Amino acid sequence: MSLPTGPAHLRQVRSGNMQALLLAVLDGPASRAELAQRTGLTKATVASLVEPLLRHRILAEDPVVNTGRGRPSRPVRFSDTAPVAIGAEINVCHLAVSVQRLDGSTVAERRTEMDNRHRDADDLIERLTALVRAAITESDGTLLGVGLAVPGIVQDETVVHAPNIPGLTGIRLGEHLAAALGQPTVPMDNEANLAALAHVWPHRSAGDDFVYVSGDIGIGAGIVLGGNLFRGRSGFAGELGHVVIERGGRPCPCGGHGCVEQYAGLQAIFAAVGAPGLQALHTALRQGDRRTRSAVNCAGSALGTALTSLINICDVATVVLGGSYATFFDDLAPGVRAELGTGVLAAARRPVTLTASPLGPSAAARGAAALITRRAYHEPELLLATDVAGSYQFP
Ligand SMILES: [Zn+2]
Repeated sequence: MSLPTGPAHLRQVRSGNMQALLLAVLDGPASRAELAQRTGLTKATVASLVEPLLRHRILAEDPVVNTGRGRPSRPVRFSDTAPVAIGAEINVCHLAVSVQRLDGSTVAERRTEMDNRHRDADDLIERLTALVRAAITESDGTLLGVGLAVPGIVQDETVVHAPNIPGLTGIRLGEHLAAALGQPTVPMDNEANLAALAHVWPHRSAGDDFVYVSGDIGIGAGIVLGGNLFRGRSGFAGELGHVVIERGGRPCPCGGHGCVEQYAGLQAIFAAVGAPGLQALHTALRQGDRRTRSAVNCAGSALGTALTSLINICDVATVVLGGSYATFFDDLAPGVRAELGTGVLAAARRPVTLTASPLGPSAAARGAAALITRRAYHEPELLLATDVAGSYQFP
């Protein structure tokens, strides 16, 4: 294989340098001299890279800082008017949208709680489009792109398996959303995978080896090993909700029996305590209702049983509970922790860390936006190609 030479090679080098510079700014505002140190690039190269990024308002300069030594410097940071990415999420009991900046900060978020189990794709796309439009009106940045999180398995941009919203199966949902929003493409992935991505990109908030558990009506997992998402051969990796914890047990929409989702999913918890929804569950837990606490503890044990098997196989250091689980983590965690403590073989040497997601229930939508921002870092020329003259207009 021959390496590119001439202008193509120079473009490749410049693109790699710009990527290194953007990643260095992600670590915090810094002067050009500090950015040269962080990247290993010369000051002249840093200056030549910073200039177009300032002109396109990707970066901004802070006021002059006089350190008393040498020349005064102007720290460079991401601009508040830099392009934004939108992450949209369809889930079993909600729709959500998150508008994210390149540095992972949140510009706006919208969320609608609703039962989507029997809705069809057209209905969901229409409602999600309205939510995206509402969120983007709160942002005056140019739009980099839109990503989509769905509660199902995605192969070749098609939802191939969505047992909790059957109307999504077989649909190229990203294409439908792209058409509704007038976008060229909308990349799509499983919601638990994208929530896990949000813990890796743009900031690593859960280490390099962890399992992210998305707990709602369905239970999904995003498995991150060595900083990379493990998708498996066909993208089916992480289907934690369908790990069997009771042979011949409760029937599951997947066609199986005894899946952990039927013991630790929200619907199973609601049924056990007679709560109509998440709000009622929170209220009962806050009031210390014994029946509710006992049911949540049982759900925690069931989840811990399934997680024990998973961790005995992939030996990760941390389990992050997210989705709705993050909202009642303190009540759920003891049951999970007890099972991990006794069942995980490696726990005797090094206990598994169990934490609530720091990103809360919006992790999947943020991860969908991270699909877009991560691409911008890898292909920084996309940033310089954005039209910064005006805000994005929907068709
Ligand atoms: Zn199942």
